[in-house]
Amino acid sequence: MAILEEPIKETLQLQNYINGDWVDSEGESKDVVNPTTQKVVARVPISTREDFDAAVEAAKEAFPDWRRTPPLARARCLFRLKTLLEENFEQLSRIQTMEHGKTIDESRGETRRGIENVEVATGIPSLMLGTSLEDIASGIDAYLIRQPLGVFGIIGPFNFPFMVPLWFVPYAIATGNCVVVKPSSEDPLSQIKIAELAEEAGIPPGVYSLVNGGRVVVSSMLQHPDIKGVCFVGSTPVGKDVVYKQCGETGKRVIAQCGAKNFAVVMPDADLPRTIASCMTSFFGNTGQRCLANANLVIVGEGLSDREYDAFYNKVVDMFVQAATNIRIGYGLDESIQMGPLRDGEKKKKVIRYIEKGIAEGAKLRLDGRNPKIIGNWPDTAFIGPTVFEDVTPDMVIAQDEIFGPVAAIIKARTLDQAIDMIHDNPFGNAASLFTNSGRWARKFQYEVECGSIGINVGIAAPMAFFPFSGMKDSFFGTLHGQGQEIVRFFTESKVVIQRWF
Ligand code: NAD
Repeated sequence: MAILEEPIKETLQLQNYINGDWVDSEGESKDVVNPTTQKVVARVPISTREDFDAAVEAAKEAFPDWRRTPPLARARCLFRLKTLLEENFEQLSRIQTMEHGKTIDESRGETRRGIENVEVATGIPSLMLGTSLEDIASGIDAYLIRQPLGVFGIIGPFNFPFMVPLWFVPYAIATGNCVVVKPSSEDPLSQIKIAELAEEAGIPPGVYSLVNGGRVVVSSMLQHPDIKGVCFVGSTPVGKDVVYKQCGETGKRVIAQCGAKNFAVVMPDADLPRTIASCMTSFFGNTGQRCLANANLVIVGEGLSDREYDAFYNKVVDMFVQAATNIRIGYGLDESIQMGPLRDGEKKKKVIRYIEKGIAEGAKLRLDGRNPKIIGNWPDTAFIGPTVFEDVTPDMVIAQDEIFGPVAAIIKARTLDQAIDMIHDNPFGNAASLFTNSGRWARKFQYEVECGSIGINVGIAAPMAFFPFSGMKDSFFGTLHGQGQEIVRFFTESKVVIQRWF
């Protein structure tokens, strides 16, 4: 067991980054605990309304000049930020493992995906182009221009602490807006590092600010008259009932990307070794704490006799359980580890309650992760192993709720239509995967399934930075999505100019 060097050696006292300065908050502080070692790595301020208001004030002042800065010059700041992020790639990744618990491989993937958004946003002179048409009537021309709106608020979740704010921040800045970011207070360290690099990249004071904290900062953001719009990523109850609702009441633009319960559907003609390998990262990667994680595995017997279906079903379940049993659990800074702990002990307790619920509901527990074998001498506070239920029916709580842990529910379906009905009966619509060799089944699946992202022989259907990060039903509230062209539209107002000259 070789543990990579930890980039954080002593407890850090975090600050807010407002108007180009690092400042203390008047609020209390809270511990940020490494979920593997249980050591306190930082103290994060739980900021006040006054802290947030100061950041908005600075952003509002910075906006007129930043808006007038040519898009190419704004893009150059992002080029510098991209270079700095690359130079700090490994450190940023290790910080994520320390603050969140994910494996170093997962952290490196997250860093890469985050940087890709900075790269795409550097294309802003092209992305922000308007359109025009001559002679809309005799001697009259019309053109559309896109203008920034002012100050936006960004609220991040704990599960992708580095990447998620980058679905929005680079585009907000590139389009000429100013932003105030509120990271998750559970793991804010990689965002602090981004703020340091943004400062080094020469992003002017006030254009980018970071205010740590929790509900008070969120409610200040939702009520502040100078916040033009809010990008939220987190759970459905907060996204729908707090953020989306209040933005509607106060007339702010809003993107609320929320919770999920994703299905993987395995057809009889699927390439099983590849399917199972893909399912392992999808169900258990990031310890199940992914909005694109699959959580329900539906094994379909379309075209098979009852006997053939039994044999196929048992084969898939056995392969799935065997592969899950082999997952190596421990500290993510050991490169041989495949699964880290949950973010904290409270989350573990919640997952255990769901496992108990599954047992009480009559599902068969094929693999019990409640006492996992941990590689290394780490406290078991937040560790939980892969857990697999079979004989699950789609109406069971463990098949309906977002558990957000490494718990798989295996469900039977005789036909693909039945499997699609199950997906549609679930309240969420973030993503779904189909494993098959049939183009006909694949097309039917992508055509009919009401989910924002579809994977065909892909377990984690994660849209890259130039595609929107979509979602349907209880997984998304809003109209335009994060990333790519859609977020450029979100951060700009379309204005149409019609002119004639005498
Ligand atoms: P969360 O809703 O608990 O917190 C999200 C953010 O809201 C945090 O910054 C938090 O400080 C703040 N917050 C929490 N409770 C609040 C309240 N009552 N009032 C105001 N603000 C509040 O979510 P989380 O646990 O940090 O993240 C996990 C959730 O995020 C999961 O449901 C997951 O599916 C979802 N998620 C969705 C996507 C997506 O793109 N759809 C991506 C990542 C995560």
